[in-house]
Amino acid sequence: MNLPLIAANWKMNLTEEEAVSWCQKFVSALPSRALQYVLIAPPFTILKTVLESVVSTPIVVAAQNCHWEEKGAFTGEISPNHLKDIKICWSIIGHSERRHIFKEDQEIVNKRLKGAVQKKLKVIYCIGEKLEERKENKTLEIIKNQLKIFEELKDFYKNITIAYEPVWAIGTGVVAEKEQIEEVHKEIKKIYPEIPVLYGGSVNEENIEEIMKIKEVDGALVGGASLNPEKFSKIVEISLKVKGVL
Ligand code: PEP
Repeated sequence: MNLPLIAANWKMNLTEEEAVSWCQKFVSALPSRALQYVLIAPPFTILKTVLESVVSTPIVVAAQNCHWEEKGAFTGEISPNHLKDIKICWSIIGHSERRHIFKEDQEIVNKRLKGAVQKKLKVIYCIGEKLEERKENKTLEIIKNQLKIFEELKDFYKNITIAYEPVWAIGTGVVAEKEQIEEVHKEIKKIYPEIPVLYGGSVNEENIEEIMKIKEVDGALVGGASLNPEKFSKIVEISLKVKGVL
């Protein structure tokens, strides 16, 4: 995947028809050379449709989560094999909504991450602190704890992209300050210089320029603002211009 990587997390949104229309509008809004920097993570049921809609482009399509086993009695889950079966090679893992709404603790998230990379999926691994943890000055401690599993994943770093997403900035309209983003990204890069680090949390077409100007930011994971193809294409365009690839 080329950097900067600009990823759209559609969460539990868009029907099949809306997704096809989104893809048509998005692809026609950008020069084709911009599309090699884009990833889209739709809901499971429309992964195949979205993949078919962007098949003539270099856009990557990813799942939003993935189980660690190949198959078995895990009702409601989707395995790496299911994804590979429909030619999906990427998954988001550890998104804060999985961690906090669905109570996936670090042990579960570790299993998902390890399972995904061992089964040769590429992963956007989400980490980030809660507001009370930031107020207690525990941000770096929390981040390092969420990254501890990396000691066991040394052979897979090339398949991992980290997304730093402060929990208090996701879907709230509150963006982390430049210094806050810089501090966390610098710390991650000090330990894992070879792993790309995206920022996520209320990114939109107005704040993306400032965020992408931060040297240590290798891209963005965009939720709400990615549902609108015009807004998301603007975010991609601005990001690529700031990073000098468009
Ligand atoms: C996300 O879903 O990862 C995210 C950052 O959402 P939003 O952009 O809506 O804050």
